[in-house]
Order: sequence, then structure tokens, then C-alpha cells
Amino acid sequence: KLVSKKWKAKPTSVDLGDGVFIKDGEMAIITGPCSIESEDQIRKVVNHCVENGITMMRGGVFKPRTSPYAFRGMGIDGLKLWHSIASEAGVKIVTEVMQTSQIEEMYPYVDIYQVGARNSQNFNLLDELGKVDKAVMIKRGISGTIEELLQSAEYVFSGGNEKLILCERGIRTYERASRNTLDLNAIPILKAKSHLPVIVDPSHGIGIRAYVPQMALAGVMAGADGIIYESHEVPEKAYSDGQQTLDFAQSARLATWIREIFAKR
Ligand code: PEP
Ligand code: MN
Repeated sequence: KLVSKKWKAKPTSVDLGDGVFIKDGEMAIITGPCSIESEDQIRKVVNHCVENGITMMRGGVFKPRTSPYAFRGMGIDGLKLWHSIASEAGVKIVTEVMQTSQIEEMYPYVDIYQVGARNSQNFNLLDELGKVDKAVMIKRGISGTIEELLQSAEYVFSGGNEKLILCERGIRTYERASRNTLDLNAIPILKAKSHLPVIVDPSHGIGIRAYVPQMALAGVMAGADGIIYESHEVPEKAYSDGQQTLDFAQSARLATWIREIFAKR
């Protein structure tokens, strides 16, 4: 496979421009709400990022929701608004693309296209993202194996897009005490098998706010190249995933811990 270390030994460095990289040997921190909700919220999160030296912000404008009646995002207008605020502040945008028809309209406004867990094996979407000259982060499928994640990455990489990042976000197991089971095993295994950077999402991985920080730090120790976690001004009022979302004080503390633990790794 082209994404394997056997084919390419040197770790892939994903360059987002303006000195922002996701790569082996650095620790990327990406934070932001589950959903982009309003101009006011965007400004607050962007400020939070800037104040804490965080150069990448996450947020969904097209939301894959289990229930069709749940909030499904601000759409392309929300993304344009977000981009106008974030780019001015030097903050990169990580957001989910749900279908091929969105790729082009999103293109001027995103820095990393996120492929969600539910779309991890949407092979048409992966094929199209392989033709794009912009970074892609693929989340592991809800019940996806490590091998399946690597095969999904192969679709994009073999299409010609080498700006690729893998994301462990927890898998569905028999365990119901947590939302998902964050598979820390996947981190050293992916790092050994592939030259691609590996990011960990402890928010979706455990689904419980109070335990997100320790799982994030466990991810750092396991060898992750970055952590992506959800944060919001008032998590209790978030339109989605509030139960696993940190407030800004918790987020600021976590960002500091991530850097401290990484420096000692
Ligand atoms: C998200 O990042 O908010 C999200 C929907 O993640 P996942 O696809 O991992 O469930
Ligand atoms: Mn979420």
C-alpha cells in the first residue's frame, strides 16, 4: 500500500501554510465546538484559540446526526462566516465534508476536510478527495478496523492527494459505560504501519466531558501527532455533543498539559 511505511519510510508532513503543520515530531492541537452555531460563538472560540496559541479550529457546518430532527448545521453560509473570522485571526479550519457535491463549494474556506466516522467508507467521497489539493483527515469508522482505516486512506492517497491525516475517534464495542471505546492501541499500530500523521479524538472516543483530558493525555503518551477535542463557551448549551465538550478554562488547561506531556515524551 502507498500509505504503508514499507512503501515510504519517511513520515508524511502535512503543510497547512503559514507555518502550521501536522507532522511526526510536533503536537497539533485542534479544538472547537461540535457544531458551528452563530457568529458570536465563532468569535468566542476563535479568540479562545488565539489566546491559547491554538492554530487549528474544528467545527461542523454539515452535521451527520443520528436523528433527522437534530440540529444539522449552519451549512455553507456558516462556513463562509467562520472562514472570514478565522482566517483574519490566523486560525485554520477543520470541518466535515459529507458528500462529494460539497467539496467544491467548501474548497475556498477549509484547510482540512474531515471525513466523519459515518463516511469513513464512502468510497465515492474518498475518490473525489483524492483529486483535491487540500488536506484530508479521515476518521476511523464507527465499527471500522485499523486495516479498513488504512484502506480508506489508500483511496485518497492513491488518487494523488498525499496531504492525509488519520484519526482515531473510538469504536463501537459491547461496552456501554462510555459512548465509544477509544482504541489507544490503534495509535502505535497506525504509527508503525503507516507514514501518515495520527490524530486522536478523545471527545468522541469516550463521550464524557470529565474524562476527556486524561484520554487526550493518554493519546499523547501513546504516540499521537495531535489531539482534536470539542470545546465551547457554554458546553451545556451546545447544539450537539455538549456532554463531551470542555469549557474554555478546561480547554486552556488541557492544551497546556498536552504540550507539557508531549515535551516529556
Ligand atoms: C464530529 O467530529 O463532530 C463528528 C461527528 O465526529 P465522528 O464522525 O467521529 O462521529
Ligand atoms: Mn461531535
